[in-house]
Parts: sequence; structure tokens; C-alpha cells
Amino acid sequence: MQELTEAIQREARRLLEAGEVDVVIGFTKGTLPLRAAPFFVRKAADVERLIWNSFCENNLARYLRGLRNKKVAIVAKGCDSRSIVALITEHQLEREKIYILGIPCRGMVDRRIVARRAPGEVLAAREEGEEVIVEGESFSLRMPRSEVLYRSCAACVHPNPVLYDVLLAEPVAIWSEDPYVYVREMERKSPAERAAYFASEAERCIRCYACRQACPMCYCEECFVDHTTPRWIESGATPAGLQGWQIGRAYHLTGRCVDCGACERACPMEIDLVYLNGKLNKDVRELYGFETGLVVGELPPLAVFRPDKDPDFTG
Ligand code: SF4
Ligand code: SF4
Ligand code: SF4
Repeated sequence: MQELTEAIQREARRLLEAGEVDVVIGFTKGTLPLRAAPFFVRKAADVERLIWNSFCENNLARYLRGLRNKKVAIVAKGCDSRSIVALITEHQLEREKIYILGIPCRGMVDRRIVARRAPGEVLAAREEGEEVIVEGESFSLRMPRSEVLYRSCAACVHPNPVLYDVLLAEPVAIWSEDPYVYVREMERKSPAERAAYFASEAERCIRCYACRQACPMCYCEECFVDHTTPRWIESGATPAGLQGWQIGRAYHLTGRCVDCGACERACPMEIDLVYLNGKLNKDVRELYGFETGLVVGELPPLAVFRPDKDPDFTG
């Protein structure tokens, strides 16, 4: 991790001093243990605050649209880079204005799992090789990284950046054989069990929209839930309103979600969000052989009209 931190700082300094970019988007140390925070560097003097570790969990591509009039360098894991590819494909970003510092990713540590395992409040956390070490007032605990990764990271099959200007380390070996292992668990349940699970998850939603704000692909200027004329779904915390929001959000991301898990990480209610998008991603892959954000210019299947492929479709 230290080598990657140094490589990020070195590249950021070079780019800022040469005037090649106006801002570098990366991570800095969080104010709490187990956290890193998105960080925008505009002066070479600040590059030493950039870091890399297993807590750099945000999908930084979320910030690129807000900086479209600037030349930007961005630290990008596999999933961030897929978001960038998808956003370029959707004409939301210009490739030539973005310098991608590619980071082969080893998965991010789920701070909630770590906190649950710890016998008391975690006051400090660090990494040593393949272990995460947490300390509190009266304990020090070691955990293997592989046991405390986010679910989306444990299942990730694209940890290496798919698009970059410079790759800051050797590509990592893929550890997952099945990106939809948690979807398959859900598919094994009966329809009634699935419906009950969905209803119980949806009813805990407080409609804070943190999931939407964290998602790089949720960029509509006016979200369907905020639209009042016509109003597409109930705005209150009724079962219909809550479920409508969950379903509408998932459908809007069909064939556009990059499996980054940023939505689920942002949810203060720890609602299981990834299985819904995971199911749609799995279906899109199986039906159309498409995975989001792997090739610039390759549109999601639901954005493609090909009457030559299925002339009966139009009746
Ligand atoms: S989803 Fe993949 S690329 Fe993204 S943080 Fe997790 S392991 Fe890394
Ligand atoms: S829906 Fe969630 S997992 Fe999919 S791209 Fe958005 S934040 Fe990432
Ligand atoms: S972040 Fe969680 S609680 Fe907030 S709107 Fe999304 S699902 Fe609901």
C-alpha cells in the first residue's frame, strides 16, 4: 500500500507541476479509523496528503461530471474505471480531459464487518500485509483481509482498471470466479420468500437518497423521485412509495451498473441494495452478453434499437 501511496503522490505532483491537470481526485486519511475520504488536490504542495489503502472505498468517478470544464486526474480502481468508460459512452465525459491513474485493486475492507467483529469501539486501524489490525482501549485484533472485504469486492471479477493513462502497479490476479454469487443465493429462494425479503428491506428505507448520490451512474439533473408533474411514485414512506423507489432506481441502472457497491456502502440503514442491481446485471450478462463499462462506445442493451436483429419485435 505504501508503494501505491508513493506512486500516486509522484504522479499527482508531476501532473500538477507540469500544468497538465487542474485537479487530482484521490483519497486522504479519514478522520475516523477504518475510513479514507475523497480528496481534491489543486496544489503540488498538498500531494503528500494523498494516500492509498483498503479503506479507499468511494467510487471517485462520481465527482467527474461536476468538473467537466477542468482537466482532471483521477485515481481509479477497476470499478471506478468501468464507471468512467460508461460515462464516456453516455457522452457525460470527454476522454481527453481525464487522466486516469489506474490502481489494480485488492478489494476494499468492509468497516461494518470489522466493527462488528471487534469487542469494543475501534480507536485505530492499520494494515500489515494480508491482515487488518484494529485496536481499542483494551483489545488488539488481527483479521485476514479476505474475510472482511465488502461483498461486492469479494465477488469482483474486474479489479484491474479497464482504461487508464498510467497503471501504478502490476495487475492483480482475479480472486473471484462468480461475480453474482450473492444473486444466486437469492435466486434459490421461492418467489414468496424473495418478495418478503424485498419488502422487509424496502420498508427500512428512510429515502435519504445517499445511495443515489454515491452512484456514478445516477446523474439525472432531476431524479424521477423528485419529479412532481407528473409524480411517478408516492413520495411518502408508504410501502408502495418505498418499494417504488427501490425498483425504479434499480431499473434505471439496468445495464448501466458497474457492480461497485458504492450505493450499499453509502446507505445508513444497511439496506441490501446490491442484490437487486446484481440480479439485473446478471440477467443482462446472460441475455445479451453485456457487462457495463468494459469498452468505450459499447451502449447498454436497453439503449440499442436493432430491428435487423429481431424484426418481429416491432410487430
Ligand atoms: S468492486 Fe472490484 S475494483 Fe471496485 S473496489 Fe471492489 S474489488 Fe476493487
Ligand atoms: S447502482 Fe450501486 S453498484 Fe451499481 S454503479 Fe451505482 S453505486 Fe455502483
Ligand atoms: S441510502 Fe438507503 S435509506 Fe437512503 S434512500 Fe438509499 S436505500 Fe433508502
